[in-house]
Amino acid sequence: MHEISLVQGLLRQLGELAGEHQCQAISKVRVEIGPLSGIVIDSFQFGFDVLSAEQDLTRDALLEIVTPPIQYKCCYCGHVCLSSEGVPDSCPECSHTLLVPEGGDGLILMQVEMV
Ligand SMILES: [Zn+2]
Repeated sequence: MHEISLVQGLLRQLGELAGEHQCQAISKVRVEIGPLSGIVIDSFQFGFDVLSAEQDLTRDALLEIVTPPIQYKCCYCGHVCLSSEGVPDSCPECSHTLLVPEGGDGLILMQVEMV
């Protein structure tokens, strides 16, 4: 499962951060997962629940997942609009129908709260 390796990567990153700050436990982690990343949020959450419980550092860590809206750019006039429900039918500025998504495909570690 794709999500498990992403969770492993995240936990590795958290381990490094904790090492740098000499902290013993992490209480909260906030990640941003873009709607176009292809990541299944439920699987990611499940993977985190399972793997975080295996180490002291993240045992009590709460995972918060934020899904940002996607930016769509009109190919005709360059107008950018935000949508969290898929591609808009047409550009609100010029009614052109060719809109391309920008960003929204990443997994970003936003915030970590340490004990
Ligand atoms: Zn337009």
